[in-house]
Amino acid sequence: MSDPIRITRTTTRKARPKDADLGFGTVFTDHMFVMDFEEEKGWYDPRVEPYGPLELDPATAFLHYGQGLFEGLKVFRGQDGRLRLFRPQKHVERLNRTAERMCIPPLDPELTLRSWTTLVDVDRDWVPSALGTSLYVRPTIIASEPFLGVRPAKAYTYFVILSPVGAYYPEGMNPVRIKVIDRYVRAVPGGLGEAKTAANYAASLYAAEEAKHEGFTQVLWLDGVHRKYIEEVGTMNIMLKIGDEVITPPLAGTILAGVTRDSALALVRGWGLRVSERPVTIDEVVAAAHGGTLEEVWGTGTAAVISPVGELAYQGERIVVNGGRIGPLTQKLYDTIVAIQYGAAPDTAGWTLEV
Ligand SMILES: *Cc1c(COP(=O)(O)O)cnc(C)c1O
Repeated sequence: MSDPIRITRTTTRKARPKDADLGFGTVFTDHMFVMDFEEEKGWYDPRVEPYGPLELDPATAFLHYGQGLFEGLKVFRGQDGRLRLFRPQKHVERLNRTAERMCIPPLDPELTLRSWTTLVDVDRDWVPSALGTSLYVRPTIIASEPFLGVRPAKAYTYFVILSPVGAYYPEGMNPVRIKVIDRYVRAVPGGLGEAKTAANYAASLYAAEEAKHEGFTQVLWLDGVHRKYIEEVGTMNIMLKIGDEVITPPLAGTILAGVTRDSALALVRGWGLRVSERPVTIDEVVAAAHGGTLEEVWGTGTAAVISPVGELAYQGERIVVNGGRIGPLTQKLYDTIVAIQYGAAPDTAGWTLEV
């Protein structure tokens, strides 16, 4: 028997902002999903309740040692009015992979998926409809045991919140300037790089701030050992087209297995292009730029879908990619994925789940 989800509806509905006023991550819907874990009971009491603060003991383990995880996916309202989650099963699988790495008890995959569809259904009026807008779904688990000893906690809280978000590119896609950094690293082999967990984001802030002060949008991370293999761009996966080869670093432990990365690779393979998941050094990228074969560079992630890179700065040198313009493959990937998300193109691979 699958666990029934208890639903308590709010009696005070919030005002919804206009689609045109939406930004990212500032507005939250009327409800949230919550479920608790205790050692004796396992995960219990799955419920939808009015959105509101969590009550946490100041000794809550997560607040001190960061044992937790998160996910991020989106629901889109198509022109046909239907709501579609993009590849939710992939996010469930990744959530449980992160849970294992963080010593968090796994969630039942069926219930996890149902926690998202049930919550989205309760707050379905909150899914914006302007093109480019969406409802961001943020599942999170925190170690909730009040205990200052260092070991995996014996109690956890799983919650899901929803946030209507505006178009990532309100003025159209614009290539960004990226700083390649070799002074800081975000992950090392054997570390947490492949887990979607708070610590990776905490580790990334200092370098990102430094780059922003110098006028860059984000950083390109190099590997933590040799500081020469490219890994990720900001909090996105990175892809390049050098000559007729599409290249992205392999999932070998330090890189987050992006769902958008997987989607982009599947599309590019389907279009018959040569795709390599292999290590790429920054020197190879620089050499390709000098030789005129560095055609396109882009990041992939749920927030932006595809983010074109127009310039890389490395050790004092500026590498301009494709004259600072969006490349044709970058544009085609963006258009294709977005069309599937909004139900404007047939979903032949079964990537969307209607709510
Ligand atoms: C979430 C995330 C990505 C992108 O993953 P998507 O599933 O495509 O959104 C890439 N890198 C890092 C570090 C991430 O946390």
